[in-house]
Amino acid sequence: MARYRDANCKLCRREGEKLFLKGSRCFSEKCAFDRRAYPPGQHGKNIRRKVSEYGLQLREKQKARRIYGILEKQFRNYFFKAAKLKGITGENLLAMLECRLDNVVYRLGFAPSRKSARQLVLHRHFMINGRTVSIPSYQLKPKDIIKVRDKSANLEIIHDALKASGRGTDLTWLRVDKAKLEGELLEVPRREDIPVTVQEQLIIELYSK
Ligand code: SF4
Repeated sequence: MARYRDANCKLCRREGEKLFLKGSRCFSEKCAFDRRAYPPGQHGKNIRRKVSEYGLQLREKQKARRIYGILEKQFRNYFFKAAKLKGITGENLLAMLECRLDNVVYRLGFAPSRKSARQLVLHRHFMINGRTVSIPSYQLKPKDIIKVRDKSANLEIIHDALKASGRGTDLTWLRVDKAKLEGELLEVPRREDIPVTVQEQLIIELYSK
């Protein structure tokens, strides 16, 4: 399967803001964006282009893709599905992205980043409602229980992530029980409950052309 293999920090520098793709490193002085807050590449420092309307829409879409770690084709499919649902397409799109299993594992604090959450899911460390699920894009529904499998309960990466993060407890649409290594999706999140800086309307305008 295709996947992005270059340095994650370049993505933050390209988008001009911290996307928090690398766990604890993002909060340390090693953060590449804090040290070099300009686009990557030989001429990164000197780029002073006027950005067109299309450029703004494209950057917003790229930023959302990169935050959630999704490739173009799958992201476009999310847009088509969101457009078919009732309600505001942009908000539907973000809610679907937030309800992905890898994102919820990250939000609950079981993984330091979405990328490692994805890997933990692929390695079959989580159960949904008592059944092992190894599909990072699995769409969770309200009342679904996400639990670390018993045989994975001693994994250092999970315990380190839980200790380091206060995630999960600050979101009203999630419940986390750190002692039991389990969490629950209480409801599909509304836009105001999703802590990402994406302007989803620009993404919808881009795909609606
Ligand atoms: Fe982005 Fe994190 Fe790298 Fe900083 S350390 S540039 S926030 S991925």
